[in-house]
Amino acid sequence: MSIAANIAEIKRELGQVHLVAVSKYSSDAAVQEAYAAGHRDFGENKAQDLIARAERLPSDIRWHFIGHLQRNKVKYIAAVVHLIHSVDSLRLLKEINKQAAIAGRTIPCLLQVHIAQEEAKFGLSITEASDLACDPAVASMEHIRIEGLMGMATLTEDVQQIEREFASLSQLYASLSRAATPANVRMNVLSMGMSSDYRIAVRQGSNLVRIGSAIFK
Ligand SMILES: *Cc1c(COP(=O)(O)O)cnc(C)c1O
Repeated sequence: MSIAANIAEIKRELGQVHLVAVSKYSSDAAVQEAYAAGHRDFGENKAQDLIARAERLPSDIRWHFIGHLQRNKVKYIAAVVHLIHSVDSLRLLKEINKQAAIAGRTIPCLLQVHIAQEEAKFGLSITEASDLACDPAVASMEHIRIEGLMGMATLTEDVQQIEREFASLSQLYASLSRAATPANVRMNVLSMGMSSDYRIAVRQGSNLVRIGSAIFK
């Protein structure tokens, strides 16, 4: 099937859930094909790739940063990034706030929460994410907005384990939705689900999925 057909089929299945097409392993031509089919949200996991693609490809593409973000790379993406999914420390948030001010804008961010059992994945613990979302220091950062949470489940065949992991993030999202967070923190986006587990993620309350290989094969 073509890229356009893959996107159409996944979107039909997703209904109201937002789709970010993860283009990190695909060519510019593949992104152009998805763009021609009307898709506008794309995800990259390296700062250099995001900025290079943003320069080469149509300016109305919304670029999502989904990888681990080093503080010294924030300045490269600050002017163009649509949503940073991977904030995992107060220090990183401070740097995003600083670079966003220089770029003259506000950058929407998600807190990345470590829900998988695997060691190697980045992210805050549930407690750390909850503390950061309620941290008064965040209230004084005028150039960032925390819009929600992102998480990745363990790469496993065990559906119940994946369900439990997504459910734990969903619960945090619900509890932070009710919490007394600073004015620039609100729960609008729950980014969870990739090619192998997005159906499970949507059943657990995801409203944004990040899909690469199932679109670009
Ligand atoms: C690569 C990546 C995806 C997409 O993975 P697929 O299995 O290709 O759908 C989603 N989220 C993150 C954070 C990624 O790094």
